[in-house]
Amino acid sequence: MKPSYFDVHTHVNLKNFIGKEDEVIKEALNAGVWMVNVGTDIETSRKAVALSEGYGKGVYATVGFHPIYIGKEKFEYETFFDTASSPEVVAVGECGLDYFHIRDPHLIKEQKEVFVSQIEIANRLKKPLMLHIRSGPAGNAYADSLELIKLYARVPGNSHFFSGTIDEAKEFLSLGFSLSFTGVVTFASDYDELVRLPPLEMVMAETDAPYVSPLSVRGKENRPVYVREVADRIADIRFEPNEDVIGALFENGCRLFNVCTGHRS
Ligand SMILES: [Zn+2]
Repeated sequence: MKPSYFDVHTHVNLKNFIGKEDEVIKEALNAGVWMVNVGTDIETSRKAVALSEGYGKGVYATVGFHPIYIGKEKFEYETFFDTASSPEVVAVGECGLDYFHIRDPHLIKEQKEVFVSQIEIANRLKKPLMLHIRSGPAGNAYADSLELIKLYARVPGNSHFFSGTIDEAKEFLSLGFSLSFTGVVTFASDYDELVRLPPLEMVMAETDAPYVSPLSVRGKENRPVYVREVADRIADIRFEPNEDVIGALFENGCRLFNVCTGHRS
């Protein structure tokens, strides 16, 4: 089927999908949904790469070390660099700062170091960044991330599951970072203003499956195929024609990840 949707941040590579990866991926591809399986540590990054190799077009991978694994697993620069060099890998991340799950100042310092290392990997490989940022009791992770991005990043990227302020969103956009939204927008109106803010070419749809299922399957397992519901809702929230938004969201994914030169022409 002709691809029409792009789930720019999903996790068929996580253990929730063991044994049904093929079913979940084919279900999406058959519905015209492309996806990026996002790595969260070295093991899930390798799994994401392996999944891409098995399907080719429409199934891509990122390689990254999620900030919540700081203090639990070791980040090894060379291993991540080598894995991220694979042609299947379209971005580096998810990486960033999480001040909700991690509050110890020593670990936050380490989060920043590992984030900067991953920005450097992205710079070296000229691949975009897939950001995970969450503020919390330990402070404003968006402000700190912006500071590091301004200092170090020489590539664009996407800020996944964006939950910062309007001003922070504007800063990300001005630095060339798109914002992506999950199924939460289908049942909560908290993000409506943010969803309307970016120019259409800087918005993305994602499922973050198996987490945050959209309204129609709330409480059940989330899957990449449900990105269609997220994309439809983004169009409604923005008061823009569904067809225009769907087309733009797909092209936005292709452009950021550099994956579909001319396939639609
Ligand atoms: Zn994620």
